[in-house]
Amino acid sequence: MTMKRDLPETIDAGALLQLRQLGISYGAGTADERCWILRDLDLDVQEGEFLTIMGSSGAGKSTLLNLVAQTLQPSAGQIAFRGKVVGGADIPADPGSSRQIGYVTQDDNLLPWRTVWDNVMFPLTLASKPSSSDVERARRVIDQVGLTQWTKHYPHQLSGGMRKRASLARTLAYGPPVVLMDEPFGALDAETRAQLQADLLDLWASEKKTILFVTHDINEAIALGDRIVVLSGSPGRVVLERKIDIARPRDPELIFKAPTFAGHYDAVRGCLRAASRP
Ligand code: ADP
Repeated sequence: MTMKRDLPETIDAGALLQLRQLGISYGAGTADERCWILRDLDLDVQEGEFLTIMGSSGAGKSTLLNLVAQTLQPSAGQIAFRGKVVGGADIPADPGSSRQIGYVTQDDNLLPWRTVWDNVMFPLTLASKPSSSDVERARRVIDQVGLTQWTKHYPHQLSGGMRKRASLARTLAYGPPVVLMDEPFGALDAETRAQLQADLLDLWASEKKTILFVTHDINEAIALGDRIVVLSGSPGRVVLERKIDIARPRDPELIFKAPTFAGHYDAVRGCLRAASRP
């Protein structure tokens, strides 16, 4: 049995994103009879923060991102964005939160019959004719991800790393302040992955985004994150929050040389192991 707090309609702005007693359940019956994937999850994400999210398989990491993206509706609790409650059981979901939230999934989901340029522009053409500033931003992010020479190519003509870059550019092109990334580099070889991690850190520093990044790789979580949170499953909630005090700029390939690396690694690994024990 969990104690419920009264939830206000607005939350004192402080953090950019505030998740309060957030829960999602499936099945029928009373609250205690339903199957809770996440329950009573509290989490604040600061503006400009790079938050990495870990947890064993099935702990609810993707579900958490889907709730923030509003592609799933919470069964309980609230999500506030800049102090305004935007998500809750009684609030109609607004997927993507009116261009406030971008989502880079594990698959790049590029449209095979469109060029890189047309793929990047695609979300911008859905609602209305893209503005000149949309086109300008698309050009800039394509340049930032190193694909300027490849705009006329089709997805099948690109390497896995380049497809990932195109997918990242497509998300950044519509300028969302928050970017959700669900194991985006999982399927790449080690070298391409390290390069993309370094490029992502450069992009994050220049574009000043708030990033929620799910990964299974502790090195990656430490190399990228300002903070790591670990979820435990059944039902999922935050069991560890750890600030990563390693100075920036960071070189993801050499992150293990940072003096505090081993302490962070051991703490996160210990927590993941404990969370995955039956
Ligand atoms: P993770 O990303 O941490 O691996 P997920 O968020 O994908 O975990 O899934 C968390 C749990 O929610 C899993 O046990 C999964 O089976 C369950 N789940 C996801 N979607 C549904 C659904 N529509 N109905 C019932 N259970 C679901």
